[in-house]
Amino acid sequence: MSAIYLLRPDRVFDGETMHEGWVVRINGNKIEAVGPAASVAANGGEQSGVSVVDLKGTTLLPGFIEGHSHLLLHPYNETPWDDQVLKEARSLRVARATVHARKTLLAGFTTVRDLGTEGADYDDVGLKHAIEQGIIPGPRMVVVTRALIATGSYAPKGFSPDITVPQGAEEADGHDALIRAVRTQIGKGADAIKVYADYRWGLMAEARPTFSVDELKLIVKTARSSGRGVVAHASTAEGMHRAILAGVETVEHGDAGTPEIFALMKQRGVALCPTLAAGDAVSQYRGWKKGTEPEPERIRQKRVTFRQALDAGVTLCAGGDVGVFAHGDNARELEMMVDYGMNPLDVLRSATSVNADVFHLADRGRIRPGLLADLVAVAGDPSRQISDLRRVRRVWKGGVLHLPE
Ligand SMILES: [Zn+2]
Repeated sequence: MSAIYLLRPDRVFDGETMHEGWVVRINGNKIEAVGPAASVAANGGEQSGVSVVDLKGTTLLPGFIEGHSHLLLHPYNETPWDDQVLKEARSLRVARATVHARKTLLAGFTTVRDLGTEGADYDDVGLKHAIEQGIIPGPRMVVVTRALIATGSYAPKGFSPDITVPQGAEEADGHDALIRAVRTQIGKGADAIKVYADYRWGLMAEARPTFSVDELKLIVKTARSSGRGVVAHASTAEGMHRAILAGVETVEHGDAGTPEIFALMKQRGVALCPTLAAGDAVSQYRGWKKGTEPEPERIRQKRVTFRQALDAGVTLCAGGDVGVFAHGDNARELEMMVDYGMNPLDVLRSATSVNADVFHLADRGRIRPGLLADLVAVAGDPSRQISDLRRVRRVWKGGVLHLPE
């Protein structure tokens, strides 16, 4: 017989709404009941062996879903991205990633959508399996493996044209090669396909579109025929436009989006993962003294386009591009979404039910009978003060308590 626990926090955020005085009963790896204390007690009243867990002073929420991580990267102010890709042994990168996985889980993020190994081939697949098999603690992973780039468009770059430098993702172009690359990545374990619809390339070193609309459509069609969605990195308006027309499910970054582009996203049901924390971190790595110096142009612009996306009613995922900044500091993105104008309750929805819906994870992201017992208790009430998300007191994944350890 599996263990049954009755969790008694001050309030429960069920993924959509906050409920004062609710309790949650979990049985084995699933949520069994949720509701006002009296009703949950009544419908399970005869059960013996229910352990009551007093969580006074806390808010209980669904385990958070990180929408954009790179467990195989670490902050660029520790080691520049190029050096991580070119100089760090794969074994080193994987060893470090196991630590990242643990930190992520203990921060209350029980699922990550990990958007590319950045030169570490298919190592996300093995990492995912190690977590699933209980070899190391970590979040449930949605993985994309290597990601797809148009030839010549990605990085590391800046080397003599006479030498070939390993790239941080898989180059493929045109009809047959793209179909083969998508199918190869799926065969190796990709749950979704990631494509770079634009990037800084060529002598201009400015972000410019990469794949044609036809190529992007082919990628989407090939992925979709296997039941998988496509995620597009895009920061230019044209890159976003092509990706949206091609039928991608989410656009990552979206820095130079316009009201027209966001209206199109809303119309086509494409979600935006704004990665506010990544831009903020990179600006600081380049010397911006946050809090004492005025915000650089890039940050001011990001506030404007984020507001435009909000006003257009675009579905907003919560995903920070963790790895650019420290794993375990995932809450930084959620705090910034509030700082940039989003209602805290909507931010909590983004990090739970919205991410679950957009990523097709019907078994999590809400506190509902029958769903996975992925739960987090934080001190205080993050719908009033978003930084309470950092005051993590308990983390369960599939009914197993991971914090305290
Ligand atoms: Zn990323």
